[in-house]
Formats: sequence, C-alpha cells, structure tokens
Amino acid sequence: MLNIALFGPPGAGKGTQSEYLIKKFKLFYISTGDILRKELANETKLGLQAKSIIAQGGLVSDEIIVQIIEKTIRSNPDVNGFLFDGFPRTFVQAYILEGLMIKLNTTLDLLISIEVPEEESVARLIERGKISGRMDDNEEVIRNRLKEYNDKTLPVLKFFKERGSYRSINGLQSIEKVKDDIEELVNVEQSKKLLNIVIFGSPGSGRGSIGKAIAKKYDLEFVATGSMLEDEIKKNTPTGKEVKSLYENGQLVPDEIVIRLIEQKIENSKHVKGFIFKGYPRTLVQSYILDGILKKHESSINKIIEIEVDMLELIRRLDKRSKTDSAMPYDSSTERIVQRLEDHKTKTIPVIEKYKEMHDVAVINGMASFDDVLKKVSTEIESSFKNIK
Ligand code: AMP
Repeated sequence: MLNIALFGPPGAGKGTQSEYLIKKFKLFYISTGDILRKELANETKLGLQAKSIIAQGGLVSDEIIVQIIEKTIRSNPDVNGFLFDGFPRTFVQAYILEGLMIKLNTTLDLLISIEVPEEESVARLIERGKISGRMDDNEEVIRNRLKEYNDKTLPVLKFFKERGSYRSINGLQSIEKVKDDIEELVNVEQSKKLLNIVIFGSPGSGRGSIGKAIAKKYDLEFVATGSMLEDEIKKNTPTGKEVKSLYENGQLVPDEIVIRLIEQKIENSKHVKGFIFKGYPRTLVQSYILDGILKKHESSINKIIEIEVDMLELIRRLDKRSKTDSAMPYDSSTERIVQRLEDHKTKTIPVIEKYKEMHDVAVINGMASFDDVLKKVSTEIESSFKNIK
C-alpha cells in the first residue's frame, strides 16, 4: 500500500492536487471535510452534530473524525492506498491515523505539507468563497479556520517530522509545478516499495520459465542465482574463476559469493519495479540472508508463489529435458536428477514451510499447460498488487 496525507492550511491547494494524485497513483481519496459536508447535506445525526462547529470554522471533535475515518477505511479494504486530505488535523488525530494504519498492517508513507503564507490562504479562500457556496468560505470564518490551523494543526508536523515521513512543498508555485514536486516525492517513495516475489517449485516444475515470463510481463528483474553463477564462469570473472574451481572440486558455492552477486544485481537495477527470485533462497540460512539484503534496501519479500507438480511428472519432465538441447549440465544422469529432487525436498521445503508461517504462499497447480500456469500465477500477482499492470 501507498498511503499519503496532504497537509497545509485551508486554501493551500490540497483538493486540487488530490484530484491528480488519486488518478496517477490509484489511491482512494478520504477528505474528512467532504465527508462532513455530505453528512451535513444528508442531515445525518453526525452531520447535525458537526454543523455549528463547521459554520464557525472550528474543528469537529476527534471522536467524530475517528468514526468517519474508520467507517470509510473499513468499507474499502482492497484499495491500493489512501490519500488523506484534511486529516490528521490535531495531535490526537496523528495518533489515531497511526493506530488505523497499524490495524491495516501498513503505515503512512508521506505527509506532504503544501506551505502557503497566511495572507495568501485568506486571499485564495475569499476568491473561492465567491463560487464555492461553502458556508465557511467568508473572511471571518476563514480567519478562525486559520487560527485553528495554527494552534491545533501545525503541531501535527512535529509528530511526522520525528517519524521521518514529513516533506514540504512550496505552495506558492504554479499548480503544475506543485504537482510535479509532489509527484517526484511520491515516485521516490514508491521506488522504495519494490515488489519482490519468490517463486518456488521443484526442479522441473517450470518455475524458471514461468518466473522469466512473469518478469517480462510485469517489468521485474529476474534473479536466478544458478544462471548468475554460470554467467560469471562464462565471462571468466574473478568470481567465475573461484566458482569454477569450487565446482571442479565438488564443493558448494559459499553463501558469501551469492550474497555479493545479488547485492550487485540490486545495485545495478535502479529503476525496476521489483525482483523475482528463482532458485533462491534454497536453504533456511539463505532465507534469512535474503530478508537482510532486502531490508538493507528498505524493502522486503511481498509475494511467494509455489508451483506444485507431481513427483512422477517431475521425473518424466526432467528425463525428457535431459535428452534435448536445453538440457542443463545437472540433468545429465538419473542419479543427479534424483539428488536435485531430494535436495529440494530436504532443504527447500522447510524454507517454504517457514514462509507459510509468515506470509501468504500462493500454491499453484503446475500440472497444466505453460499458458494456463502463467495465467494462474499472473492472476495471483495482480490480486496482490493492484496497480502492477
Ligand atoms: P476542509 O474541507 O478540510 O477545509 O474542512 C472543512 C471543515 O470541516 C473544517 O473547518 C472543520 O470544521 C471540519 N473538519 C474537516 N476535517 C476535520 C478534521 N480532521 N478534524 C476536525 N475537523 C475537521
């Protein structure tokens, strides 16, 4: 999820910028002011309670605000993220927002403050009052709204400065320039939210070809540590030479080498949407390593796919592959095929079990055709990441 709050005095341009942001980043818009005005127009109990306060330019009680926010959030569980306008407006509401985000297992990523001097706000609101028909867009009430802003709302900034999510924008620039500045901030934040998928499955399950197809379809970087090691050997790099001699002596490639390769890959993939890992992690140790590497990049695994294929079908497929041009060196004998299947069972299945405790693992039946499996995996991914397409 991507959650943003637009902050600033009345008249800063929050509503105008919101219209653009919700379209661009597919966010669900929550304006407490709009919701209250609707309640008021419908003459609900809540609307009537708020009426005189709004008319005077005061702030509606935190109790009322928490009710409307909670109701709106709860009735929109599947959104890509929320854009808050006019909330949080008090120190207490900052805590309320934090609590609501925790409940949704997410966080407020950015509080973007559009900064405008008081006299500019007043001038803009008086202008707006000529056409808005809002009962609170007249000078006396405007002054009161700004007083409330200075006394009760500005302290909210301290809360978000301490949490590192506060950003400020010069609101005196043109609408277009403010929009560009906000977009840049959001893009930076979004790039931290990499979409990281691990695709599991026995050798022969199709995880490699499916993983590659998924990477291409969704613009993700495909990370297959086996092929990366092969590449190093082919290019005869220092790492390649090291790996080659390990292979020749029948030794395992130490985790340090693979860590370095993955780190390099992530470093060199600055503008990707995320990564899809195949053949890694293979052991419990590697699963901790991958968590650590991603954490370093302020990221984490957010989707696990397991492709399941019957053992007999796996043997049939691997045996068939061993007789074709696409045979891998490790497909060469029945003994090696069995060894790889055995390794998967004893070392990698426990990793999948560990993930099943922490994440939602999507188990896909891999006995169907390539296109069918690809379709099923795509549906899974699209349901988890609504704005991936
Ligand atoms: P707005 O449309 O955001 O300018 O809000 C209009 C009026 O609704 C404000 O002057 C307040 O009276 C009330 N209001 C909107 N949001 C809040 C909030 N988060 N907390 C308290 N009062 C609010």
